[in-house]
Amino acid sequence: MREAVQNSIPSRLYKDPKNQQINLHFEELVNASPVAIYTCDANGYIAYYNPAAVTLWGREPKIGVDLWCGSWKIYYPDGKPMPLDSCPMARTLKEGKAFEAGEITIERPDHTFRNLLVFPKPIFDDRNKIIGAHNTLVDVTDQKYGEEKQAILSAIVESSDDAIISKTLEGIITSWNAGAEKIFGYTEKEIIGKHISTLIPLSLRAEEDVIIGNIRSGRKVDHFQTVRVHKSGRELQISLTVSPVKDGSGNIIGASKIARDVSESLAAEKKIRQSAERLQILNNIGKVISEKLDVQSILQHVTDATTQITGAAFGAFFYNKIDERGESYTLFTLSGAPREAFEKFGMPRNTAVFEPTFSGKGVMRVADIRLDPRYGHNKPNHGMPEGHLPVVSYLAIPVISSSGTVIGGLFFGHPEAGVFTEEHEDLVSSISSQAAIALDNSKLFEDVKALSAKKDEFIALASHELKTPLTSIKGYLQVLQRTERDHMGKVFITKTLNQVEKLNDLVTDLLDISRIEAGKLALEKVTFNLVDLVLEVVENLNYTHQSHHILFDSGNAVMIHADRQRIEQVLINLLTNAVKYSPHANQVWVNLQPSENNVTVKVKDQGIGLTTEQQKHIFTRFYRAEGAFNIAGLGLGLYLTREIVERHQGCIGVSSEAGKGSEFYFTIPLN
Ligand code: ADP
Repeated sequence: MREAVQNSIPSRLYKDPKNQQINLHFEELVNASPVAIYTCDANGYIAYYNPAAVTLWGREPKIGVDLWCGSWKIYYPDGKPMPLDSCPMARTLKEGKAFEAGEITIERPDHTFRNLLVFPKPIFDDRNKIIGAHNTLVDVTDQKYGEEKQAILSAIVESSDDAIISKTLEGIITSWNAGAEKIFGYTEKEIIGKHISTLIPLSLRAEEDVIIGNIRSGRKVDHFQTVRVHKSGRELQISLTVSPVKDGSGNIIGASKIARDVSESLAAEKKIRQSAERLQILNNIGKVISEKLDVQSILQHVTDATTQITGAAFGAFFYNKIDERGESYTLFTLSGAPREAFEKFGMPRNTAVFEPTFSGKGVMRVADIRLDPRYGHNKPNHGMPEGHLPVVSYLAIPVISSSGTVIGGLFFGHPEAGVFTEEHEDLVSSISSQAAIALDNSKLFEDVKALSAKKDEFIALASHELKTPLTSIKGYLQVLQRTERDHMGKVFITKTLNQVEKLNDLVTDLLDISRIEAGKLALEKVTFNLVDLVLEVVENLNYTHQSHHILFDSGNAVMIHADRQRIEQVLINLLTNAVKYSPHANQVWVNLQPSENNVTVKVKDQGIGLTTEQQKHIFTRFYRAEGAFNIAGLGLGLYLTREIVERHQGCIGVSSEAGKGSEFYFTIPLN
């Protein structure tokens, strides 16, 4: 290598013996230089290169063989391959002129790339003839990478939507990106050199000391939510991240801040939360409205929910009722204020402010009622009476029934102006129309309840009034039956007595019903043998109902503690039904099944039976299945039977098939 280098030193330097010493120094210098240097002869063959050139090329060229350049491959700065004979050295030799700072990229045999600045220059002899050229190659790869990195970082900072700001430890702003300008409104020129407190609201200035304190001790402040001020004075919700900036030796010299305007996302979050809350309220109110039938709780729920939804200080529902003085006197429900806050005031409905609501003209939403032309004309108060809760924002919505009647109005107040929005108006209007339907329903329900109460009252009165004369008639007939001698007379009296007996049974059932409704069906419990009772009833019925034979296979005694007369009534009801509803059969079965805790009595017939749907209703008052219409009855027996069984903590049921027969059963606890 050394030999090759010596051979390649331009001959001019060697020819001059005076310069030999200098030449040696020169050779030392070039070989030790960290900068790559090489020369070519006039034909372009490499004549000399120093060790730095070998390192840079990643290969060693052959002296006198390699042409123009020692690089493995060469590229233009834009990445296109550069033919070897177009390289700067080739051009210098061909054109006989120097190239200053030409830029090329070389590829080494190991496929690594370097960016170079090249400085080829021709060498002339004494007669100005080109005898070769030298080239200096400066490796600028790291510098170029640094520049690129810097450019990328700057582009990122500039294109960021976040504000990226740097400041000194004293709080002086030193850099400001486009995002910062967009968020805070200041241009870079306006703000650089100013103190960071320009952006901090007065009340939060102390925050900066805490932040700088953290930065000085090398700690980062992460996603800190706070408020900053826009150039216009408007406050911004900001999420802040502040990190220390260090110099090359690791000293903290300032801070970089990334601020994100979260006002919109916070507002959106708030809106979503509010919508969810509203949905929840609407859902609840819908549920209450569809489930409840009493006016008071519907109105209270509606008033509470609408007051909450509108953010009103208080809300009230006033019924559209007027007293003799023309005042709507009933404050019906109230939310957000004690009842006493209103009770002392009448509710003048004829004033211009209230009239539109009570006459159903529509919604009244006023940002400041004191400024409304309809306000303050009425004596004696000319506005809000003294002691009235302060109302500035006002919202009133009529509640109108499906028939068009104005049931009343929902009124909301707030001591600040402009609280109620169009959205509130829409929400309350839709709730109020739902409420109106619910109130209509509840009124219907109240009417039905009142009618039903009247009917019960009538049944109680009528059955009571009928019972007394019937008892007398029955008594006299029984006396007559005993004393009558004439055969025909006796027959007629007996027939009459049977009919009176039936009538008496019906009246007794009616009386029992009214007792049940009034909660007055008393039980007189005794301990007795159920087998004896069933035998007794079966015997009587077999005697009176000769069309059927009631079969009962009596077993051991079953002692129960119950109202004997009522259990007898249950047995008679089930057995007479079994007979009555099996007109084409002639047998009925009774059966008793004691278990450890209960005794079950089953009554089975082969009669008309019941469909599944009919079975669901037969224990309700006055229900009669379709197939029973040509058989006498009122539909009361099974209702009474179930009441009696359940009052004994027992249960009753039926299994039946239409056209095949039924089996009714009831269970009474043994203790
Ligand atoms: P009533 O017999 O006076 O109509 P109940 O309350 O005793 O009143 O019975 C209610 C209805 O149940 C009857 O109208 C009838 O339709 C049906 N029902 C009761 N018992 C039977 C039965 N054993 N078989 C078929 N249907 C019956």
